[in-house]
Amino acid sequence: MTLEERDAKALWHPATHFRDLEETPPIAISRALGSWLYDERDRAILDGISSWWTCLHGHGHPTIQEAIKTQVSRLDHVMFAGFTHEPGVALAEQLLHRAPPGYGKVFYSDCGSASIEVALKLSYQSRIQRGEPKRRRFAALHNSYHGETLGALSVCGHDTYRELFSPLLVDVLYLPAPALANHSHQDLGEDSGATAPETATAIALLERHAEELTAIFIEPIIQCAGKMTMTGSGYYRRVTEAAQRLGIHVIADEIAVGFGRTGSMFASTWSGVTPDLLCLSKGLSGGVLPLAATLIRRGFEDDFKGSPERSFMHSHTFTGNPIACAAGLASLKIFDEEQTIAHLSERISWMESLRHEVESACESVVEHRQSGLVTALRVDPARGRSLPPDGRLGLALRRAALERGVLLRPLHDTIYWMPPLNISRDDLTTLAEVTVAAINTVLG
Ligand SMILES: *Cc1c(COP(=O)(O)O)cnc(C)c1O
Repeated sequence: MTLEERDAKALWHPATHFRDLEETPPIAISRALGSWLYDERDRAILDGISSWWTCLHGHGHPTIQEAIKTQVSRLDHVMFAGFTHEPGVALAEQLLHRAPPGYGKVFYSDCGSASIEVALKLSYQSRIQRGEPKRRRFAALHNSYHGETLGALSVCGHDTYRELFSPLLVDVLYLPAPALANHSHQDLGEDSGATAPETATAIALLERHAEELTAIFIEPIIQCAGKMTMTGSGYYRRVTEAAQRLGIHVIADEIAVGFGRTGSMFASTWSGVTPDLLCLSKGLSGGVLPLAATLIRRGFEDDFKGSPERSFMHSHTFTGNPIACAAGLASLKIFDEEQTIAHLSERISWMESLRHEVESACESVVEHRQSGLVTALRVDPARGRSLPPDGRLGLALRRAALERGVLLRPLHDTIYWMPPLNISRDDLTTLAEVTVAAINTVLG
């Protein structure tokens, strides 16, 4: 049996239709290096989306590999209740040192959804213990994505993920967010979205419902799963300031946009705000091992002190795994040694000019936008020439790119680039060229 056949017999893959597997079975990858994946026949595939927005410094970075090897030979795992270890402490210290000012504690977990659950439960429990039981409702943004466990799904503002399970979910107040067309990276420095009509509406809704709200969930700057919608630094600043003025906790989900993606270490930095709780995962370990963290504003823990019943009784078995923490420390070391953030501005401007080139080479691109090293290109589906019979544009584009050796995973009519932060100029150019070819094959 081939690996594909064995896979088809034994496995159920995430976010994959069974029917599609017959046409396109999963590709067996045997190794990866830099921005490239290699299949079993050693065909190279350019990882244009950092393998679901994880891999920061390219695959197989020696600093991360060495750190993992050293750590695994010393201490592979120990439970984090009643025990601690050097990589767990050092990574927490580093995160507090690098995050926007004002955080005092780090709570580890093992995936993005779990870090959201932690934030959600912390906010709720603190209200009970402060004697504010009326504040029990959450606010979230339309088109948002925060993960797929039931709590995280509750605060997703996206029917695709949520609708089927809605009877199981908690009630949420949805607020509008702008979708800033033709947003350019420079706009982040210009307080983008601050004066959008959605901003005023969102703030008015917060004011009207303030007494019942415990927290608002926000993906700063980019709603990644929501078709890479750019909501702007000014929108985030104004909504955060309004919520905090009204005593509503702000829970920032930087799971996708943290660690340099927007051109600064944390997206919150663009807006100069310190959300009460800040969720991190994907790139936290450099994108190579499951790890997540919820950063908690200094003093928040006071409501959890005193009698044992006030404790936060939440745990995940692999909380603070030392190997994952060692990988996280190595990733931060790479940021320092390679001056990753400083070198980003050059790559951001290469990407700016490439996305303009794609637009002029493809008539069907109707809008394109960028924040940091993330670019989205929206095409007009009405121009579809050789769409599959069921009209799934994203799938058709994905297949067309893959045939040309590039991994893209378009979100319906939106193609996006989110490559490793150290992608070379040549690889970025390949990414753009294949994007043009894929668009023009599928859409003409
Ligand atoms: C991926 C993601 C999550 C969920 O993280 P998982 O590790 O998949 O549970 C939550 N929020 C955002 C913004 C994400 O991109």
